[in-house]
Amino acid sequence: MSTTTGDPRPRVRTGPDGVAVLGWRCTGCGYPVAQQVLTCPLCREPVADSAFSPEGEVWASTCLRVRVPGHTPPYAVAYVVLDDGPRVLVRTPGDRPLPPASRARVTGTSETGDLVAVPAEEES
Ligand SMILES: [Zn+2]
Repeated sequence: MSTTTGDPRPRVRTGPDGVAVLGWRCTGCGYPVAQQVLTCPLCREPVADSAFSPEGEVWASTCLRVRVPGHTPPYAVAYVVLDDGPRVLVRTPGDRPLPPASRARVTGTSETGDLVAVPAEEES
């Protein structure tokens, strides 16, 4: 589902080096974006395809109790600022939100197409 045309959620690429989060980076100022745009939201220069580190820092997190198709509440989500990359929304294990400023690593996408991340310390 993550490859569905028009789906605004970030995609991942899994290769020999592990997981990379796909997005775009401004060719002028280098600003990273996770959603497809025609031009940079900051400087209006063109953007180019880019791949970002799967690791980053939790910016904010919460436990959601909202019923959404494909999700059984409660479940935890977080915004993670990828290293040298954009801020992305991810699902995290269980219903306990990851602490802000902790490290997280994107491991792939869920069967419903959401980015999934775990605490970076748990990844070996
Ligand atoms: Zn720019």
